[in-house]
Amino acid sequence: MAKAEETVLEIDLKALGHNYRYLRSKIKPETKFMAVVKAYAYGSDSVAIAKHLQGLGVDYFAVAYVNEGITLRDGGITTPILVLHPQKIHFKTLIEHRLEPSIYSKAILADFIATAQEMNTLDYPIHLKFNTGLNRLGFSADELPEISTLIQQQKVVKVIAMLSHLAATEDSNETDFTNLQLHRFDAICQKADALFKIKILKHVLNTSGIINYPNAQYDMVRSGIGLYGYGNEPHVDEALRPVMTLKTIISQKHSIPSGESVGYNRKYKSNLETITATLPLGHADGIGRQYGQGKTFVSINGNMVPIIGNVCMDMIMVDVTNIECQEGDEVIIFGKELPANKFSQTAETISYELLTGLSQRIKRVLIN
Ligand SMILES: *Cc1c(COP(=O)(O)O)cnc(C)c1O
Repeated sequence: MAKAEETVLEIDLKALGHNYRYLRSKIKPETKFMAVVKAYAYGSDSVAIAKHLQGLGVDYFAVAYVNEGITLRDGGITTPILVLHPQKIHFKTLIEHRLEPSIYSKAILADFIATAQEMNTLDYPIHLKFNTGLNRLGFSADELPEISTLIQQQKVVKVIAMLSHLAATEDSNETDFTNLQLHRFDAICQKADALFKIKILKHVLNTSGIINYPNAQYDMVRSGIGLYGYGNEPHVDEALRPVMTLKTIISQKHSIPSGESVGYNRKYKSNLETITATLPLGHADGIGRQYGQGKTFVSINGNMVPIIGNVCMDMIMVDVTNIECQEGDEVIIFGKELPANKFSQTAETISYELLTGLSQRIKRVLIN
């Protein structure tokens, strides 16, 4: 691992392989594995991550939007790709790129069938998404007979899978609710099997679902955050390895006399002489202002030092008064030594938000 000479996001493909194998070990060998690579593969690099996972034999990919699926196809990904939240205006390009839509409403179903008819498809694969309690996206259970009639009247699309999404798989206080959602999904699946009379794949579990509800793995599981090294629970975090490490360097050190201030709005004031280090990244890179003013620490030469003052657009200042360091030294913002979930907790948010908020300005570097 080379020392950073600028701000870089290191992407450790060996750690990705480790996490993939760990998650696979939690499911039956015949259960398919869908890798969720939406939002630039949780802020990393969706093509690099998908290529590596494709090489390891992953069965499916999922993205949120059609343009993310096109990026994967253009990058050489040939594995099936589910688009979780497609919009009608992209249906034609979706079909042209052999992406599979998650169909979530009657209007979207009718629109998709119309596009498929225009394009003369036969048995184009679609997934039907049901709402079982997240109340975000999906058909309701009582729409099933109507959907099945619509489907059976045509030959351009074919239902190959059914899915739902769980609200609280990581929360041990919500097991009753999760079991209720699973029960509702099971009832929908049984009705669908009776109506469609063909083999339809079922998938419902996310990363924490794989860990906490292994009996509900059905035919496929969908994992995102676990692949990137975070498991929403300490015992899972211990078994996983962070894939992304955000590193930078010290651009400049300053000796701040007592009574001076640091940064915009003078939010840090020294009452003793303070040594500061200025780092070349800021809120435009995805490290928001909520991490400033002493709440969050970064690591320099093995020492934890606080971010002081307001985070600027392109710079962050840290207090290095009590440690040995020099201009040009490497700084770990988060990753291997300092997990993203711990870092994000200091601003009362989750690893998902921190990772997916990293801007495209940061250079991505693949290692291992
Ligand atoms: C993002 C997403 C996932 C992945 O969830 P993780 O907690 O990251 O494993 C799975 N399914 C759906 C529908 C999603 O939107």
